[in-house]
Amino acid sequence: MAEKKIESDNETEAGDAAENEESMIGNICNLQVLPPGYYGSPEQGHLVFNASFESGNLGRVDAISEHEFDLFIRPDTCNVRYRVWLYFSVSNTRVNQRVIFNVVNFSKTKSLFREGMTPMVKSTSRPKWQKLPVKQCYYYRSPEHQKNYVLSFAFVFDIEEVYEFSYCYPYTYTDLQDYLDVIEEQDLPFFKRELLGVTVQQRRLDLLTITRPSNFDDDVMKRVVFISARVHPGETPASYMCQGLIDFLISHNELADVLRKYLVFKIVPMLNPDGVYLGNYRCSLMGYDLNRYWSDPSAWAHPALYTTKQYLTALGQNENVQLDFFIDLHAHSTLLNAFMFGNAFDDSGRMEKQSVFPRLMSVNVEDFSLSNTNFNNDELKSGTGRR
Ligand SMILES: [Zn+2]
Repeated sequence: MAEKKIESDNETEAGDAAENEESMIGNICNLQVLPPGYYGSPEQGHLVFNASFESGNLGRVDAISEHEFDLFIRPDTCNVRYRVWLYFSVSNTRVNQRVIFNVVNFSKTKSLFREGMTPMVKSTSRPKWQKLPVKQCYYYRSPEHQKNYVLSFAFVFDIEEVYEFSYCYPYTYTDLQDYLDVIEEQDLPFFKRELLGVTVQQRRLDLLTITRPSNFDDDVMKRVVFISARVHPGETPASYMCQGLIDFLISHNELADVLRKYLVFKIVPMLNPDGVYLGNYRCSLMGYDLNRYWSDPSAWAHPALYTTKQYLTALGQNENVQLDFFIDLHAHSTLLNAFMFGNAFDDSGRMEKQSVFPRLMSVNVEDFSLSNTNFNNDELKSGTGRR
């Protein structure tokens, strides 16, 4: 009897929590949203929202009026703290239908939406992602939404077709697999793709090696540059950086050839394939921010991290290997330009050595910011890739 009581109490709580983030565990799937107070059969222009696809994210839609909709980001799987990434489609549009979308539950208050960033849009007949015009987007503290920071954007569906909206350019797990498949088919002598491990949901953890064929020999002394990306799923620019780097390293550019001659590039292009696939912003399937578990990754909870760390440790212990760089590619949600974060070391020689690369970048790369570059050893960053 007592057990039954507890059960029914829990049910009541779950019902009461319907307004909370905890209740929004799945993406909406072809949800037709009717105007408030409308009870007839659905018509053209009664929008259908969908986020049940790879990297999709939209947890709930409320119609405020015939033209205005509140959109709720679905929190990361098993972690309601993170709500930033957004990716959904809208169909059943009417010609010249005007709407206002309010994204009302960001988990952060600061945003690049204040600095001119805008959401992306594409549609069936215009499949290339485009940035929404700045003048159509507003990021502000909304009195109508408990003073939350809200992104509102106005949009006109000019023709009847399917439209997609996204926080930033998407880059899915399938995009990566397709890209790597195409390179692999070229059978390049200086490119090798291996399966380093699999994730909790059995997705591939790819490891790429790019170097001159003679450097593949185990007995050859080598200097290794290790690069990883997408530990944080919502940071899609990291994948574009990584892909650009791979494109260059496998090119016939003379510099690329020199780099392949002297260096071995080891690249893990997607450290969190499950999180990327699921449309999370920061976490893995089980709700872990993997970039806080490098110091003691678990084989069952963080298998991709565990395997990558084992591989890195073995590289570090290999007598024939000099591990020159570990670079983990991210994107920042509030800072502009490119920059680097590194560790603060007591050893001044090591500190100086580490500062050479960012200085070279600042001299040679127009949008590299030395003032945003930061070396620290604070507690907050323990368990990140660099510490
Ligand atoms: Zn990150």
